[in-house]
Amino acid sequence: MTENCIELVDLTKKYGSFTAVDHLNLTIKKGEIFGLLGPNGAGKSTAILMMLGLTEPTSGSVRVCGIDSTRQPIEVKRKVGYLPEDVGFYDNRNGLENLIFTAQLNRMSAREAAQKAEQLLNRVGLSGEAKKKVGKYSRGMRQRLGLADVLIKNPEIIILDEPTLGIDPTGVRDFLELIVRLSREEGLTVLFSSHHLHQVQKVCDRVGLFVNDRLLAEGNIQTLSEKLFHNSPFIVEVGIAGAFRKKYTPDRLNKILKGIDGIIAVRTTDELIQIECSGDVTPDIARAVVESGAGLNYLNKKEYGLDDIYYHYFEGGKDHE
Ligand code: ADP
Ligand code: MG
Repeated sequence: MTENCIELVDLTKKYGSFTAVDHLNLTIKKGEIFGLLGPNGAGKSTAILMMLGLTEPTSGSVRVCGIDSTRQPIEVKRKVGYLPEDVGFYDNRNGLENLIFTAQLNRMSAREAAQKAEQLLNRVGLSGEAKKKVGKYSRGMRQRLGLADVLIKNPEIIILDEPTLGIDPTGVRDFLELIVRLSREEGLTVLFSSHHLHQVQKVCDRVGLFVNDRLLAEGNIQTLSEKLFHNSPFIVEVGIAGAFRKKYTPDRLNKILKGIDGIIAVRTTDELIQIECSGDVTPDIARAVVESGAGLNYLNKKEYGLDDIYYHYFEGGKDHE
């Protein structure tokens, strides 16, 4: 049986009367790469802080590697590598020195620390920059150093808060590929937060969509769109040739389509008829229109996908209760 690495049950955080995280239920399995996705202010960082035992939940429970993070925060920190949004490094020291420092804080001997630091710099592709002062690192290099830094204590899980923020597109790709490689090669469980749907869906096994303190849906992108648009996952667009439009009024078309099971709503625009359906009834619609004699000249089935999720929940910024 697969082990659950992170288990959140009704996890809730309130700041006074303001709810930052509202009854979050989530399970992440060993070896999984999970993307906690949501616009700014959704509550991602707050949820992460509770997983780490860095802030107390108002109610609900959080277990990481079987440990109650709220009651045993120190135990949890031994198992989890955490990369906050802004990693603090000594800017006037080089990458190698910074890693050695962390390794020694983790009680390694000087020799062990140096070995481990070099090995990890190599692992994250920073060997060439080992002697460069961290103050001169680009944001992408800094994040890779951050990854090396959290790997020093051989964590079982790594939690990264907006790790790709401020990195250029090539750097983002490299960084995400590095995460996938690490996870696959070392069986690491990864949770990272992001407000970039497109980045997340490239590398995550599963994503959870977090909006306005709530988890709206989780799964892979395919199931996510099915869950979010479950009431009307399909829209069939039908075009009627100009010569027929006068005779085939919206009312008449409505009647023609009426008998088809699965049609939720019919909208008519100047150009097209848009039919919202609960299932794929495209053949039935086509047949009904053709048989009515209404000069069908266009038919398009639109399935909700990534772009729709993106628009509705990120760009649209609507309140989805
Ligand atoms: P995200 O990481 O998804 O951008 P956060 O978890 O940082 O979101 O914040 C969620 C909400 O909680 C925001 O509206 C934020 O202003 C609020 N919040 C976060 N931390 C505190 C705090 N310490 N006190 C009061 N409100 C907070
Ligand atoms: Mg945040």
